[in-house]
Amino acid sequence: MLQLENLSRRFGATAAVSGVSLSIPAGQMVGVIGRSGAGKSTLLRMVNRLTEPSEGRILHEGQEVTRLRGQALRDWRTRCGMIFQQFNLVPRLDVLTNVLVGRLNHHPGLLGTLGTLFKRFPAEERAMALMALDRFDLAGQAPQRADTLSGGQQQRVAIARAMMQQPRILLADEPIASLDPRNARTVMDALRDVNRRDGITVLCNLHHLETAREYCGRIVALQAGRVMFDGAPGELTAAR
Ligand code: ADP
Ligand code: ADP
Repeated sequence: MLQLENLSRRFGATAAVSGVSLSIPAGQMVGVIGRSGAGKSTLLRMVNRLTEPSEGRILHEGQEVTRLRGQALRDWRTRCGMIFQQFNLVPRLDVLTNVLVGRLNHHPGLLGTLGTLFKRFPAEERAMALMALDRFDLAGQAPQRADTLSGGQQQRVAIARAMMQQPRILLADEPIASLDPRNARTVMDALRDVNRRDGITVLCNLHHLETAREYCGRIVALQAGRVMFDGAPGELTAAR
């Protein structure tokens, strides 16, 4: 269970998120929807502490996430995979190495050696990365430079990289906003797969209600930083 308790974040005079309370059982796939500026990104970024809350608490399985410091905070971030609208791959590196980047926190000594990184990972981690790629139909792309892939392929590489951290929670911040409908579908299918097969809790910011309806068992709608709807897609008839 992930609990957000009265979570708020201000930026100067802007109330980006205001008094959001949510209880998210492990294994849910939650679509967070709302217009641009509604607070979706700020909410997600507070969960892995990329953004600090102004008020409120986050608890995960009884542990107070908002109090974590140092190594405990780094461990928490490892347990929260994150993917972004712009993929955030290392463009000149091959795909397999990009996936192995998800293991870097296990090998702090390898940082700064990105060019020759691949050969320095243990064989079993290289095999694990290849399996992660194969799962998303990308094994054939393993030796290609990341920036030669289509947007949908790059986002699936980012998901494979996040899976290398063996996360409990996956935070997806507008993962399909840069993609055409066909590529968007392959990415949403990949997120659904890790949610269903691995039981990973997925919090996914989405622009389009229709995508959230199709893929998410629960929809949270934000408006000006507040929750204006929280429920199953079927309950969302009159709203919007
Ligand atoms: P969304 O993801 O729904 O588009 P955001 O969480 O990005 O919304 O933004 C919510 C509000 O907070 C917006 O008014 C935005 O301009 C503001 N905001 C977000 N991040 C910052 C920041 N780092 N500095 C100042 N204002 C910010
Ligand atoms: P899709 O057809 O899947 O919507 P694209 O048209 O972007 O996506 O890419 C189709 C294929 O072309 C991809 O599988 C990718 O390998 C290749 N490709 C895309 N962009 C580039 C590029 N800049 N350089 C080389 N190959 C590319």
